[in-house]
Amino acid sequence: MTGSELRERFAASLMPNYGVPQIALTLGRGCEVYDADGRQYLDLIAGIAVSSLGHGHPALVKAVAHQAATLAHTSNLFINEREIELAERLVALLGGDAKVYFSNSGTEANEAALKLVKRAAGPGRHYFVAAGKGFHGRTSGSLALTGKDAIREPFGPFGMDVRFVPHGDLDALREAVDTGCTAVFVEPTQGEAGVVPAPEGYLAGVREVCDATGAAFVLDEIQSGIGRTGAWFAHQEAGVRPDVLTLAKGLGGGLPIGACVGFGRYADAFHKGDHGSTFGGNPIACAAALAVLDTIEKEGLLAHTAVMGDLLAEQLDAIDHPLVAGQRGSGLWRALTLTGPHAAHVQEQAAVRGFLVNAVAPDVIRLAPPLVITPEQIGVFIEALPTVLDAAEAATKEKQS
Ligand SMILES: *Cc1c(COP(=O)(O)O)cnc(C)c1O
Repeated sequence: MTGSELRERFAASLMPNYGVPQIALTLGRGCEVYDADGRQYLDLIAGIAVSSLGHGHPALVKAVAHQAATLAHTSNLFINEREIELAERLVALLGGDAKVYFSNSGTEANEAALKLVKRAAGPGRHYFVAAGKGFHGRTSGSLALTGKDAIREPFGPFGMDVRFVPHGDLDALREAVDTGCTAVFVEPTQGEAGVVPAPEGYLAGVREVCDATGAAFVLDEIQSGIGRTGAWFAHQEAGVRPDVLTLAKGLGGGLPIGACVGFGRYADAFHKGDHGSTFGGNPIACAAALAVLDTIEKEGLLAHTAVMGDLLAEQLDAIDHPLVAGQRGSGLWRALTLTGPHAAHVQEQAAVRGFLVNAVAPDVIRLAPPLVITPEQIGVFIEALPTVLDAAEAATKEKQS
């Protein structure tokens, strides 16, 4: 089946919410993926910061195959040991005094957080504060908290009072949060907005505001967590602990799993029967996540990510091209910022030359490669980048003329 045949069948049978993607992937090995027409690509987006171990990592394959053959599903009517092991591992990595709820996706992790903070809130708390341009997911609760107006507004009202403040602006946050606020939802760095970090000290400031008012501090580390920044969690680098933490993307290494972690009094805020998911804590997904955590540890991938991230940043900084404005981000989570709305062309021309990158905003290319990427692979990309940018520039000019 060729790519063009697959695109036709996709368009005829799948809803148009994603449009029709240009490339049909059929195989992945390490940091390389192959499309239906046999073309090879260096994967610099990893399924949106998900496939942290790359593709087909033996530890992940073994854990998933073994668990599928042993016991694939239990539902939450029964205990499965993988779920306990994974919760224990996460709690240990987070420094204790926490409990975990497992979901199947990021948006569900935030839905759980939303219900958790409502359960924990005292009387008189009736509104939420979230960051403008932030992203928390596509289901109605998470969408209500999502600051990207274009994707939220068509689907309201949501029956929630959500007040948005600019990302990283502590004065605005202080102004917006009082004792009527149930919770503040933020990302440490906004991923879908284009890998936009908050100013230094922001998370500590959010912590202070929440402590002063009693609002819950919910930190969405769905994209930043599990090694992406070179630390297990971005908040650990900031030396700040939230009340509730949400995880997903990189946690399962490609299998669908999310988690909502409650610290301190938020660990036990749910009553029996308050929340649930048939698939939540699924043994295969948990086995995959355990393999991810094991492999990050065994292969020293946190340190590797920090070093590779610095290397990538340095080499991006050295590129002198009229289309390039700069770069930002941390670890292997970078934005190449452009001087105009050229990202779609850059993404397209990169793919033509065998590189998968993501036009996350009209003028931003997001790079979030597998954490196992090598200096040689980064080098190959950097060497090709000027040609990619030239071709994107030519394509832009052609479109204008
Ligand atoms: C991807 C993402 C989500 C949503 O996760 P899904 O698994 O797509 O539901 C929520 N928050 C952040 C910060 C994300 O990057």
